[in-house]
Amino acid sequence: MTTDYKGLLETIADEVRPLMGQGQVANYIPALARVDPDNFAMALRTIGGDEFAVGPADTRFSIQSISKVFTLTLAMRMVGEALWQRVGRNPSGSAFNSLVQLEYEYGVPRNPFINAGALVVTDSVASHTADPAGLILGFIRHLADQDDLDFDLEVAKSEQENGHRNIALAYFMKSYGNIYNDVEHMLSVYFRQCSIAMSCRELARAFGYLANNGVDARTGESMLSTAETRRVNSLMQSCGMYEAVGEFAYRVGLPGKSGVGGGIVAVVPRRMSICVWSPELDPAGNSLAGVRALELFTSCTGMSIF
Ligand code: GLU
Repeated sequence: MTTDYKGLLETIADEVRPLMGQGQVANYIPALARVDPDNFAMALRTIGGDEFAVGPADTRFSIQSISKVFTLTLAMRMVGEALWQRVGRNPSGSAFNSLVQLEYEYGVPRNPFINAGALVVTDSVASHTADPAGLILGFIRHLADQDDLDFDLEVAKSEQENGHRNIALAYFMKSYGNIYNDVEHMLSVYFRQCSIAMSCRELARAFGYLANNGVDARTGESMLSTAETRRVNSLMQSCGMYEAVGEFAYRVGLPGKSGVGGGIVAVVPRRMSICVWSPELDPAGNSLAGVRALELFTSCTGMSIF
């Protein structure tokens, strides 16, 4: 078991370099396609507060679906168990933006991390405050201890103009009575939450509570109970990596959540949170170099949860 994390991260960065050029940057949101594909960064933060990083770990990127973990945390705090009447907790086996299952299952999405489920979660947060986007942003700033985090309004606008599928999902669920707020209002919150830009270092810090039984080790504040934290981690484990979730469990063995901006955050319960970023994606939508980097990390440290 190694603890020279700095050396290990540098070795991993060298090993994944040949993967650059083999994936595809997400282009269905045009503003995302402008990112420089040739990037690799990784940061980890132990629950004791030690940080290690390699590459441009302070460069911010679009967190996209990683934001769904933060809104789920907020919704669990605000709504509690009632949330699970509106969204399931099983992997979907379908693409993150699929419409098909929703019709069979009467507008109740399979889990909070596919887009339909995330829209319901955002809707539930929106029912409890006049400024849901501000609440979400404030929560993330607090977790990351970084006051200047912000929406990327260009990315949000680009998604608003091209997010036909999310718009369809939202109206479809509204027809089943599973979206309570005005659809356009809820979507504008969702597009903004996805557009927030953060660095690997900031995301590793912001996910610290999930590695520490729900407690933000920096402030001692409880974000979720121990049981709720275990549940969020289990949902990431079973639903956090699009339809490649089984492959990720097989190769990496950690709860993780990825986003189409090329970020992946993984949690080693009771030890550390890790963020990796490389914008080129594999066919399932996960960062190609990112998955490999995490696989190397757990292989070298033995830190898989299995
Ligand atoms: N905002 C993106 C969407 O809803 C997020 C997708 C993702 O990162 O998985 O399509």
